[in-house]
Amino acid sequence: MKKIPYGRQSISDGDRAAVDGVLQSDWLTQGPKVDEFEATLARAVGARYAVSVTSGTAALHIAALAAGIGPGKTVWTSPNTFVASAACAFYCGGEVDFVDVDPSDGNLSVEALRSKLEDADKAGRLPDVLIPVHYAGHSCDMAPIGELAAQYGVKVVEDACHAIGGTYRGEPVGNCRYSDMAIFSFHPVKNVTTGEGGAITTNSESLWRKLRLLRNHGITREEDLMETAPDGPWSYQQIDLGFNYRLTDIQAALGLSQLERLSTFVARRSEIAARYDRSLEALPVRPLRRRADTASAYHLYPVAIDERRCGTSRLDVYNALQDMGVGVQVHYIPVHTQPLFQRKGFRRGDFPQAEAFYRNTISLPVYPDLDDRQQSYVIECLGRALAP
Ligand SMILES: *Cc1c(COP(=O)(O)O)cnc(C)c1O
Repeated sequence: MKKIPYGRQSISDGDRAAVDGVLQSDWLTQGPKVDEFEATLARAVGARYAVSVTSGTAALHIAALAAGIGPGKTVWTSPNTFVASAACAFYCGGEVDFVDVDPSDGNLSVEALRSKLEDADKAGRLPDVLIPVHYAGHSCDMAPIGELAAQYGVKVVEDACHAIGGTYRGEPVGNCRYSDMAIFSFHPVKNVTTGEGGAITTNSESLWRKLRLLRNHGITREEDLMETAPDGPWSYQQIDLGFNYRLTDIQAALGLSQLERLSTFVARRSEIAARYDRSLEALPVRPLRRRADTASAYHLYPVAIDERRCGTSRLDVYNALQDMGVGVQVHYIPVHTQPLFQRKGFRRGDFPQAEAFYRNTISLPVYPDLDDRQQSYVIECLGRALAP
């Protein structure tokens, strides 16, 4: 049997036709499909604006810039995430610190945030931007996070790379009710793909304008934004230092077609997760806790392995599953333990909950095209791997 990966894209005939349609049109780079994709994405997540970019990392970069990160400014994020959630601060010349996680769901702990903000306030070292990460697709508890951020004057950028299609308190993740911006990734392993790609959603017109400038070199063709009189109708002016982070129409067409399937994708992921929930009850593993006010988008299905109860280690379980053709993964190596961050002064032991979470967690395969037979096989293999 072919190896079962932990996640993968689902590409339909409709997706292929959408891409082919663009290839037969006049526009390959950023054009009408990008506009349509942004409007559809904004509608899907209930935000006023969406700005597409070339990756989730690019989205984090320009969101951090638009939120004012630069030299002397600080981002706080979760250590239980992909490195980009933190590294975006360095791109802007800023600094990073972390808020430890709640071990029950791997999300940034509201209590840890509260006490760290109190300490930082006393020390006069409040952060400028907070980036909570909706780990595995399950939204952080955004209402209290948004309240704390407002109390201390901290901007909030949600890293929603895992969470498109999820809801919090009955509303879609990405609507920015409790944040300034939310960012998404459309890498093939995420819930919606454009190949490579990303986006930022916001309800702020000024942030929207800023983000559009930053993703296109800082160049404007709008006369009212120009700083001197235009030379002629061909004029454009670079009024800020931006980048080429433009998505192509080829990618946007794929993204549009994928967005049409978003609810089907999330429904299938939820079905797979529910079956894992039932099937793993008897095994020495613990799934993530989920709050009743939140519907996960189930980007990942991580379980904590109870090493004492099963008498085997995470490493052995990982290796046994790989040998049986089940491509499990580990999410995440805590960011502050990475060499780059160690050089910045972080130490092992700085964020003990994230480190403990990492030590015994493993992500089981979950993606829309995983069929029942394959999932049965994964469950059977996990049972065997846990009982050596
Ligand atoms: C995937 C991911 C990113 C980066 O997205 P890319 O599109 O790969 O650049 C950032 N944060 C999280 C939590 C992610 O899962």
